[in-house]
Amino acid sequence: MQSDRGRRKLLEAIYAQVILDITSGNLDRTFQYLIPARLREQIRPGTQVIVPLGKGNRQVKAYVLELEDRPACEPEKIKEIIDLSHDAVPVESQLIELAFWMKRRYGAAMIQCLKTVLPVARRIKAAEKKEIYRAADQAEYENFLAECRRKHQKARVRLLEAIPEEGPVPYELVGQKLHVAASVIRNLEQKGLIRVQSRTIMRNPFDREKREKQILKLNPTQQEALRQLMEELHCPGEKKPCLLYGITGSGKTLVYMELIEEIRRQGKQAIVLIPEIALTYQTVMRFYNRFGDRVSFINSRLSAGERYDQFLRAKNGELDVMIGPRSAVFTPFPNLGLIIVDEEHESAYKSETAPRYHARDVAIARAAMCGGMAVLGSATPSMESAWQAAQKQFRLVTMNKRAREEAVLPSVHVVDMRQEMMAGNKTMFSRLLYEKLKERLERKEQSMLFLNRRGYSSFVSCRSCGEAIKCPHCDVTLTLHRNNQLKCHYCGYSIPMVQSCPSCGSPYVAGFGTGTQKVEEKLRELFPEARILRMDMDTTQGKNGHENIIAAFANEEADILVGTQMIVKGHDFGKVTLVGALAADTSLYTSDFRACERTYQLLTQAAGRAGRSGLPGEMVIQTYKPENYSIQTAAAQNYGAFYQEEIRYRRMMHYPPCSCMAKIIFSSPSENNARELAAETAAALRKRLHAGAGQVLGPSAAEIGRINDIFYYNLFLRTSGRELMNRELEFINSFMEWTKCKKDVMIQFDIL
Ligand code: ADP
Ligand code: ZN
Ligand code: ZN
Repeated sequence: MQSDRGRRKLLEAIYAQVILDITSGNLDRTFQYLIPARLREQIRPGTQVIVPLGKGNRQVKAYVLELEDRPACEPEKIKEIIDLSHDAVPVESQLIELAFWMKRRYGAAMIQCLKTVLPVARRIKAAEKKEIYRAADQAEYENFLAECRRKHQKARVRLLEAIPEEGPVPYELVGQKLHVAASVIRNLEQKGLIRVQSRTIMRNPFDREKREKQILKLNPTQQEALRQLMEELHCPGEKKPCLLYGITGSGKTLVYMELIEEIRRQGKQAIVLIPEIALTYQTVMRFYNRFGDRVSFINSRLSAGERYDQFLRAKNGELDVMIGPRSAVFTPFPNLGLIIVDEEHESAYKSETAPRYHARDVAIARAAMCGGMAVLGSATPSMESAWQAAQKQFRLVTMNKRAREEAVLPSVHVVDMRQEMMAGNKTMFSRLLYEKLKERLERKEQSMLFLNRRGYSSFVSCRSCGEAIKCPHCDVTLTLHRNNQLKCHYCGYSIPMVQSCPSCGSPYVAGFGTGTQKVEEKLRELFPEARILRMDMDTTQGKNGHENIIAAFANEEADILVGTQMIVKGHDFGKVTLVGALAADTSLYTSDFRACERTYQLLTQAAGRAGRSGLPGEMVIQTYKPENYSIQTAAAQNYGAFYQEEIRYRRMMHYPPCSCMAKIIFSSPSENNARELAAETAAALRKRLHAGAGQVLGPSAAEIGRINDIFYYNLFLRTSGRELMNRELEFINSFMEWTKCKKDVMIQFDIL
């Protein structure tokens, strides 16, 4: 029925909404053209066409965004599409294909997807602070300058004389004041005499002197992993995504670099995704040492203009490797061969705004589209990836030894905080942790203490029995709202705040959440002589706040680093021998079915921070739930055992990856319209889904029901498999095509 409707719609559609000149930044503007009868069968969203533009009817390339059955103005004014465009596929059309894939999967408007995907020059080409440095050593530089003088190459001489030995000269100055053409600058840059650099790029990644040529040799475990990855890479046709499961410190980075070398030998390019928080100077330097000028980086601190420049360099063949957080997955490499997603389990890979894409999924989709390979690396793989590997959809490659022989895995102690309370210790530090901290201070070794807390949503738990208040229908914790209501974010169930524990009757129920600031204060009371650094949202506000704190701690300017979970992600501190998880279970009680997964990942990654270089490491896990399997298995550092327990729970509850779940988000300035369309969609879905195949929950108002005067309603859709989910999302997309003209409701899919 639905496909009939779809076909009829295609036949009726005689207009096409197109975008043109896509790389000039003119994405906000779309144009309507008439589809001539002879092309009607061939034109679909995504088709590349040639259209007449402007008074002279200049022929330009355009992409069809949507088909429409109504003219936007008087029909006689609308021009006709000239023909299909049969150009060789440039990288833009690959990215547009990716944008269409994203639109289908994540619901968002095509224009949003295009803006996310394409390297668009922003009109406000942000004040770029480019600078020119000397790149050659003193003697080489002087010799070259002398030769230029002899040859009367005046522009070169002016430029070379202007750059002081120590510092840079601003790029604009060279153009405007010295009248040196860009080609001269480029030429000298190619000769290796100078280098042009954006100021916001991390502290001098392009420093020749620092570039060490010594390359580590792969150990046997790494060699075997590389062999397996290469096997997949050389397999003709479609390559399976590979899950590289390597324990913390097993040396995954070195394996990535060998793979990249192979990709370069094939004349192709590679993208390496690294979560922003782990994109440190150390990491960047490791890649620069290996690939020099052929590698570049983006991070969220680059201006839109600077990011665009890096993307342009990639497009023009100046680079082989791009490193960056999730948006780097859209780097417009013309011949992309490999996408690596390091720390693939990180939740930062998922976009919080429309389109709500997951960079891991986009990486896999993009790799498949360009015939390349995706490699996902982690010491604590996401349930999704591990499940795919178990189903043989991904190829599993394992490294279970630490690369540096002297680095041993730390010993882990679990402390039951209920017993601490019974023993009369009401502080947030267990006696064991206190003793261990004291030892470290005496031995002049470093410690890290963290709270795994995300900050906003707070749950309620019982201090006596440790139970958290849960939704009777969903097996997630209820969230305490400001109006003193406890609410379930999945189904909308809501009760007033309880006065006593529903499990044991104890009156000691309270919202949970000990701030890092409080930890710091208590620590100063207990150890007045200790040097303490705190890293959290408050102390990392400034531009380099985060890096400054990391650097200070790495330079051993402090004994103890206190923070949220951000301190334990991806950093390598040699002198840290103690890691303390102050309230390990806080992450267990979020209203998220991934709570145990997140807890396991966090504790394991945290344990991996201790004892990186010879000194034996220890970890103390403080918890009210020592029997919980995610804490038990993390303490034992046994991923396999964790996976088995967790997959059993997911299967029993029909949670992903054992089913597919999507949150369908309806937003509108009119609360009524959002609610109504959500209800209509729910009803339509319920009619389509026969029992057993899928389930629709809701609609209910979103956790934050109104943002910026836009109202949000959610619907949860659960299906037994991916195919059915895709079909239903496709249905919702076409359902929206039919209803959207009437209503100002935006729709997005949040794939859970
Ligand atoms: P992972 O990302 O798997 O946790 P890294 O790639 O950060 O591990 O490597 C951990 C440490 O081991 C790094 O300090 C790295 O320099 C070192 N390392 C990796 N491979 C080797 C090797 N083959 N020989 C010696 N040291 C190595
Ligand atoms: Zn209780
Ligand atoms: Zn519920």
